[in-house]
Amino acid sequence: MRMGLAANAIHHDHDDAALFRWLRASERGIRELNLSLHAVGRTYAAIERVGLLAGYAGLVRYPYGHEGGLMKLVAEVVGMPQPERVLDGAIYLINPVDPSSTFPEAVALKRQCVIHQKPFISTVASARDWIECERIHAGFAPDPGADSLFALEDQTIALIAHDAMKPQMLAYATDHFELLSRFARRVGTGTTGQHLNELAWSRGWPQDKPWVERYQSGPMGGDAQIADMVLERRCQRAIFFEDPHVARQHEADIQLLERAVTTVTDETVCMTAPRVANRWAEAVRRRSAWR
Ligand code: PGA
Repeated sequence: MRMGLAANAIHHDHDDAALFRWLRASERGIRELNLSLHAVGRTYAAIERVGLLAGYAGLVRYPYGHEGGLMKLVAEVVGMPQPERVLDGAIYLINPVDPSSTFPEAVALKRQCVIHQKPFISTVASARDWIECERIHAGFAPDPGADSLFALEDQTIALIAHDAMKPQMLAYATDHFELLSRFARRVGTGTTGQHLNELAWSRGWPQDKPWVERYQSGPMGGDAQIADMVLERRCQRAIFFEDPHVARQHEADIQLLERAVTTVTDETVCMTAPRVANRWAEAVRRRSAWR
């Protein structure tokens, strides 16, 4: 597997920065998975400087951002004709107040990951979660260091889907109803939440209790309300099925929520495509059943 890797400056400019916190937690898993990390210039240099992944052949250097490193990652997430130039997703540890996180290539990187249903990993917690899930899929024993990420009973999850993606969200909730029901709390935007509650009631969830606590509809500010819960560390996961093919009147709110997630980078996991979320759910099931 090959992943693009980039991190905004604040995430690699001191020894305990986010990039290094992630690598310290996940280096063993990266080596076990033999994961190739295609890292843009400064991110690569920072990893070398601190001595993580020493001698690891899977760490590949890409050009600096100002030379087009991030742009190359976008093309390779889409996939270039040469087989070695196809990425399986991207890890981009975002600092939301770094202007470069809003550059077109940064926006395009996420968008193409969503379109091609590849993981777009923007937080330390998402990166740790993803490595652990891939370890489980590869047959490795659970890493006790990742247990807290999988303590769903202590977590709140946000479920949001744009209109064209609502059928996929309902299918997802149908396929993984028991797993999603393990969360302490589910929250959602207005219309998504209503559909999900109707689904839950039709499956025997108590009629007097919502399965999902509904906030405003997305265009009316629901994303911003959920972002606030994320910022207050009261929502640890978001499954957000975005429709990347239409202009969205509340684009700013959508970005706001996704950037809120990156401000609490160690605690919040966000997944933006059904294939990624399905793979996660399957890993959770296998990990829970592990003996
Ligand atoms: P909705 O909002 O669930 O109220 O449709 C989702 C969105 O469009 O952001």
